[in-house]
Amino acid sequence: MELTTSIQTVVPLNPKQKEGLKKLHIETVRDFLYFFPSRYNDVSIVRTINELLEDGHATIYGKLSGLVMKKSFRGKMPMARAKLTDLKGSTIEIVWFHQPYIAKQFANDMNVKLVGAVSKKDSHFLMTNPRIEETVELPIDVHDSLFGGQSESDVGYPLYRESRGLTSTWIFYTIKKILGSGLLDTLEDPLPEYIRTRYHLPSLSTALIWLHMPKKKNDALSARKRFAFEEVFFVQLHQQKERLLFLKHESCNIPSREEDILSFTSQFPFSLTGAQKRAIDSITNDMCSGNPMSRLLEGDVGSGKTAVAATVAYLVAKTRPKNQSFGNLQVAYMAPTEVLATQLFEDFISFFKDHPLPIILMTGSTCKKFPSKIDGERSTDISKNQAKKWIAEGVIPMVVGTHALIQKTMEFKNLGLVIIDEQHRFGTNQRGMLVRKDNKVPHLLSMTATPIPRTLALTIYGDLDLSVLNELPKGRKPPRTEVVLPTDRKRVYDHVRLLLEQGRQVYVICPRIDVVDPTLENSLQLASVEEVLRELQDSLFTDYTIDALHSKLPKLKKEKVMKDFVEGRTNILVSTSVVEVGINVPNATCMIIEGAERFGLSQLHQLRGRIVRSSYEPFCYLFADVKSEKTERRLQALVKSNNGFELAEADLMERGAGDLAGRKQWGLSDLAMEALRNVEMVEAARTSVRELLIHDPDFMSHPEIARHLKHLGDPLHLE
Ligand code: ADP
Ligand code: MG
Repeated sequence: MELTTSIQTVVPLNPKQKEGLKKLHIETVRDFLYFFPSRYNDVSIVRTINELLEDGHATIYGKLSGLVMKKSFRGKMPMARAKLTDLKGSTIEIVWFHQPYIAKQFANDMNVKLVGAVSKKDSHFLMTNPRIEETVELPIDVHDSLFGGQSESDVGYPLYRESRGLTSTWIFYTIKKILGSGLLDTLEDPLPEYIRTRYHLPSLSTALIWLHMPKKKNDALSARKRFAFEEVFFVQLHQQKERLLFLKHESCNIPSREEDILSFTSQFPFSLTGAQKRAIDSITNDMCSGNPMSRLLEGDVGSGKTAVAATVAYLVAKTRPKNQSFGNLQVAYMAPTEVLATQLFEDFISFFKDHPLPIILMTGSTCKKFPSKIDGERSTDISKNQAKKWIAEGVIPMVVGTHALIQKTMEFKNLGLVIIDEQHRFGTNQRGMLVRKDNKVPHLLSMTATPIPRTLALTIYGDLDLSVLNELPKGRKPPRTEVVLPTDRKRVYDHVRLLLEQGRQVYVICPRIDVVDPTLENSLQLASVEEVLRELQDSLFTDYTIDALHSKLPKLKKEKVMKDFVEGRTNILVSTSVVEVGINVPNATCMIIEGAERFGLSQLHQLRGRIVRSSYEPFCYLFADVKSEKTERRLQALVKSNNGFELAEADLMERGAGDLAGRKQWGLSDLAMEALRNVEMVEAARTSVRELLIHDPDFMSHPEIARHLKHLGDPLHLE
């Protein structure tokens, strides 16, 4: 047996199991070994029904009866109900809210194990939403554990995520078979021993055993810690290595004279914040080092990243190519949408008024050039081919466009700087495309408004230098944020009406797109764009223009909806969180967020940033169903703080990495994301990576590391 052996050759599989494994993405022995238990059943609380404690969490065994699928009395919430009778003849009621399918998956008279929360209803017990698992027979003595022990530190057997046709128990026995096959002795540990010893981490084979068959709780924890460390370590190693490779290339030298910077920035109708000045300083330093810059400019929405980008773009665009007494280096500036690119183009025309330079706008649908030959004050439409030709000849120093700008068919004569706005990570592969024919590499400036905690930044952006704009421009009014209970909505709508009458525009954000089919399995009843749009249109704001935006709309329709809103033809925009990405509508000063308790803090903060764009007072209303103190506290954090980084840290610590905005884009496993709460672990990984790259950059004494890196490829998968 090897890691790559197909699981079919290890155990016989019936068609149902095959399907189940496919759902869980398990094909090989390796997939199985790395299928981590979702939790461990605590054997110390297996109880018979009459031992159940009120408001506790328990595991009980028994026979099912009276299984039915039902709707709640208001007809909204689908559920399954049943009774369970244990061997002693006691009975308990069970309800599974939002999981009506349980009534189909299980049957009366089945012996099952239930793990879940117990509460007391009138005089009898009720178990709510327990995990359910079929068991062949009921254990006579429920105090018998799989591992036999009874002491406090004992941990039960692992519970795995199940899928139709696959029980946790079956998964466990299959893994046990693999663990007992002798395969473990042949595995190579990618983490060198000196690192494991230093941080008290178990070896790979020990960790795998501890993960699936722990004798103590601590064993399971150590094993998880080891795998989390391993992942964080290798992601960092990969990123740092990329960084070294990128730095080896030669790049253009951009002289940056103080007076050039001043003459350009003095035309802004504001003075730069300290943070903006520091960012410009770091960037200009990078760009005259001879090596390519690779910098990330991170700053809350509205922190003024564009002014920084424009300034350095100007410095590059006015530099002559090496050994040339004419012409300019070129800058490619990419925005995530056509609307934003067009907005940027207009901004740049005004920025470059006193420092005239030709600019081209290039998006999927339009191509424009400034200045026009006829009128030096205006831009003119040109053909795409003409634009490409001029860019290839190097006569156009500034090119603004969408992310499609960097494509193989686009050729720049003297590309000196690439600026990427709101692309969370510009992958290694994409960066490879920037390498020019003469093997020189342009400088790279990425910008993002997604505030992420430090540990995450250290890990995934290890290949970039970081500048943070942590200072909002003066005079910006922070949004007045309020948590609004359902009973208070009318007051908010009255205020919204007032703002609309004053000519302002309004966003309404919803957690989902379409109305939920109430019979659907496992669905939550959340406000949808469709529903809210209808309600606003039909009864609340009949005299205003309302439009809807979400990811399922065709691309052109999306752009049109956005354009109408940007240009003020739409008064209210109902949208999902897609509106997050850098759109600038200074006249939109109010935002209602439906189902606010469903969003993470940093995401709410980012959404809210859309309305902090002007000197009008911004209002943010969080419509929320506040059921717990914790939710209340979370949302109040948003009322009190207007600092994205603070909120991202709070998110990570309170609810875990699951809530960080854009979490799917980072490409890390759930385990590693959780590990990012552990600042010391991330720092430890970083220290180890640095030492290793200084002392043994080619891993001569650690071939296992080289092999593992090669096996991993790019560990941060981009979509
Ligand atoms: P973001 O960082 O979200 O891209 P922008 O660059 O779009 O922010 O800037 C938001 C607004 O703030 C723009 O209207 C810009 O003109 C303005 N702005 C930028 N820097 C300053 C500053 N130092 N003082 C005042 N206003 C500024
Ligand atoms: Mg921006």
